[in-house]
Amino acid sequence: MEKKQNFSRKREAILNALRSTTIHPTAEWVYQKLKPEYPDLSLGTVYRNLAQFKQSGAIISVGVVNGQERYDGNTHPHTHFICSGCGAVLDVPGEYVRENSATLVSETYHLEVDSCDVVFHGLCTQCIEKQQIKN
Ligand SMILES: [Zn+2]
Ligand SMILES: [Zn+2]
Repeated sequence: MEKKQNFSRKREAILNALRSTTIHPTAEWVYQKLKPEYPDLSLGTVYRNLAQFKQSGAIISVGVVNGQERYDGNTHPHTHFICSGCGAVLDVPGEYVRENSATLVSETYHLEVDSCDVVFHGLCTQCIEKQQIKN
């Protein structure tokens, strides 16, 4: 019983860690953040829980950036910008898909569209500034 309680406390801590940040962290980041408080936590446990949360819809995956999957505790529909310089994942407020986009794709290609994600790629403010200093 004791063990089970400890297990769900860790689960909760993993979910809270994700929800407490907007940096769209990696599993490694969550692991490093919780390790001081949960010394027996393993990276494998973090990965397993993140996969379960993702499947249940408690969190979303932003995708793989520089070889590492990035997670988001904010499950409300929103748009992302991924920096190809430093790998930062930023939230971009606003809607960038036209209302009839899904209908257009459905009708043109005979598909049933459930959702549509827009991801912007490019350089973040910091990376633009760094580039300007170099030039
Ligand atoms: Zn950047
Ligand atoms: Zn986000």
